Amino acid sequence: MALMTAEQYVESMTKIKKRVYFMGELINITEHPLAQPALNSVALTYELCFNPEYEELFTATLESGEKVNRCVTFWKNAEDLIKKYKMIQITARLTGRGNSRTVGADAINAIGSVSYEMDDDLGTEYHPRFLKYLKYIQDNDFTISGAITDPKGNRSLRPIQQSDPDMYVRVVEKKSDGIVVRGAKMHQSVAVHAHEHIVAPCTTLREEEQDYAVAFAVPADAEGLFHIMGRQPSDTRRLEGDLFDLGGINQGGNETLMIFDDVFVPWDRVFMCGEWKWSFPMIHRFAGYHRNCYGAGKSAIADIVIGAAALMAEYNGTAKNSIIRDKLTEMVHMARTIYACGLTSCVEGYSTPSGIFNVNLMYTNVTKLHVGRLTYEIARLAEDIAGGLVATMPSHKDFTDPIIGKYVNKYLKGVDGVPTENRMKLMRLIEYFCYGQGSVYFLSEALHGAGSPQGQKLLIERESDLETKKEWAKSLAGISD
Ligand code: FE
Repeated sequence: MALMTAEQYVESMTKIKKRVYFMGELINITEHPLAQPALNSVALTYELCFNPEYEELFTATLESGEKVNRCVTFWKNAEDLIKKYKMIQITARLTGRGNSRTVGADAINAIGSVSYEMDDDLGTEYHPRFLKYLKYIQDNDFTISGAITDPKGNRSLRPIQQSDPDMYVRVVEKKSDGIVVRGAKMHQSVAVHAHEHIVAPCTTLREEEQDYAVAFAVPADAEGLFHIMGRQPSDTRRLEGDLFDLGGINQGGNETLMIFDDVFVPWDRVFMCGEWKWSFPMIHRFAGYHRNCYGAGKSAIADIVIGAAALMAEYNGTAKNSIIRDKLTEMVHMARTIYACGLTSCVEGYSTPSGIFNVNLMYTNVTKLHVGRLTYEIARLAEDIAGGLVATMPSHKDFTDPIIGKYVNKYLKGVDGVPTENRMKLMRLIEYFCYGQGSVYFLSEALHGAGSPQGQKLLIERESDLETKKEWAKSLAGISD
């Protein structure tokens, strides 16, 4: 079964016994109303593999001739990365969030390429081990979550200096048949709807921190593994049984605090164990791939927000106003800047020793830094154009109420010819992305996902090559030392 249908995926989720808590209760992730939108979004990534219009982007053909999901393959050239990029763009346009399976794909390509280089350097045998694991994933068309971010405790202290040594995932026991790991990973998107989790370190480690230099894979039902699902803005509107006040959107995601309460991992699922020097390449390979995704995903959500703002201007009767048109142009300019930066990081990537193609590190970090700024500015302009009603609008229940509904209908009307209901729906859509549930994906994730802004600046500085630039300036100015 190289490609599962959406139905087979949902069915597979019902069969895995997962421990997921939400608001103090164990929940069923295929039935709970707050988990279903995310299930729909992952299911869509399966469905689109069978859609003739999108199949080229969502699937890839292995050397064996077998067709698999693009997210369970190694990227071999710029074209592969561009297809991945466009795949994310399509998913984000259809769901209002990124592609649920790319975080796993980024982990696969990071571990795939780094394990090869690590084996070459140290004589370890992680790469063939990882290839075997990947084949298992491909054969079953599994969704993988990439678990990277540790809780970190006191940010001014290193992992080894924390008063609680579990603030970073670590090996607590080495056995003849495997290792036992303890710790937690934060903000785990897709984790509750994945079949497997790939876990890797989130910080550069030193020699005395070998226990933290660990990368491995665990099945979703591993003993000792469980999730505490986070809240999202306006999340309990999903319990009202009406999509109207959620902008009509039945797609989404869930993030979890993922706990490893002494989880056993057999050796054939361990891809780094103590090789602290390789923690830096491991993290930055993953971060590089993952930051690139945001150029496609966030620009696609920005396009929806821009469309909503332009339509709202029509509904409000301000569409012809030159100031409004200028604001919309400004928004388009920002969205296209994000998109172009991300695309450049695919086009100007490079081949690593394993043959796996990496993104351009300068451009992927420039992309992500822009994403964390410009999406907020786009959201601000969308709210500006829409008006204050986006934050003060009565509920759908009031609109349909037999007594007060007619007042809501009368006073919330914009231009003639546009039903009040349509204007209200559009207000909710803008609210959803600017500070409702969708803001998790349009804004917060844009800021902190794949690393917070300072992390990108660090890499931009590393890649800056100021010495060469100084030479160019000196040469033009006629300065000779
Ligand atoms: Fe992410």
